[in-house]
Amino acid sequence: MNLSSLDSPVQQWHDPLFNEKRVRVFIKRDDMLHPFVSGNKWRKLKYPLAEALEKGYSRLVTFGGPWSNHLLATACAAAGSGLKSTGFVRGEQVTNLVLTLCSIFGMELIFTSREQYREKKVLFADRYGNDPSAYFIGEGGAGPLAAKGCAELIAELPEEYDHIFCAAGTGTTAAGIQNGITATKLHTILHAVQVLKGDDFLSDQIRPTLTHNADFQLHTSYHFGGYARTDKTLTRFIRRFSSTTGILLDPVYTGKLFYAVHHLTHTDFFAPGASILLIHTGGSTGIAGKLAELSDQ
Ligand SMILES: *Cc1c(COP(=O)(O)O)cnc(C)c1O
Repeated sequence: MNLSSLDSPVQQWHDPLFNEKRVRVFIKRDDMLHPFVSGNKWRKLKYPLAEALEKGYSRLVTFGGPWSNHLLATACAAAGSGLKSTGFVRGEQVTNLVLTLCSIFGMELIFTSREQYREKKVLFADRYGNDPSAYFIGEGGAGPLAAKGCAELIAELPEEYDHIFCAAGTGTTAAGIQNGITATKLHTILHAVQVLKGDDFLSDQIRPTLTHNADFQLHTSYHFGGYARTDKTLTRFIRRFSSTTGILLDPVYTGKLFYAVHHLTHTDFFAPGASILLIHTGGSTGIAGKLAELSDQ
């Protein structure tokens, strides 16, 4: 599988609110890069996969929760590259859409207790310590190589935007995009919408991955109760957005991101005339984890 030919389109998001506030809002459709190696997971895997292939490894070993978009991306990318894959899954054994897809793509799934899961290097060493063909990829694909892949997104953009927004879990994607902005000397301000509940702890996670000091902005009040939590406001927003654009959002990441930009516009956060780009980081399988909440009730 070749992860080097990146070309996802940018399209405008039309909404009466944006006309009223005189802002232009665009979407970078990284969700269109691949159905299973989707969005930022494609960008994050690009260099680790290339390194594994170049150095002759034959198995990718990685880690994720039971709904991990990263596990699915790794399983599919490994299968497409002639590699085997192993996924250490956090928590007790379960079956769901994502894990079933992982196993269809040939991933060996190893369920681990939450305590064991914390020690990723130990899990890897116990099972693959003597296996030189196994290539370690951190949880969620995190690492400097992942950020490097995400930084490349900036060079693909057709214009310079005032603001770029992305959803942030570990913050690796945000750090990579900020590095891309810094490297190309754009005046764009990066905004990371934190999907986990908490103060601005993510800043401390993002800063070490930055190549230069930079003033990105963190938005911490759009988590909707915490990671993978939703409420009626969010699910209604997602339904309205998808039914008027033909673009799917997941309730874990992109739903919160798009809601944040819409809400910030409403509160006059942006100056009239501003241009805003949202990164659609993919992950539509997250919908399967919230079917009841997203149904028309
Ligand atoms: C994993 C993921 C993110 C979060 O990326 P980080 O680099 O961990 O911040 C955002 N959006 C989607 C759809 C994801 O799957």
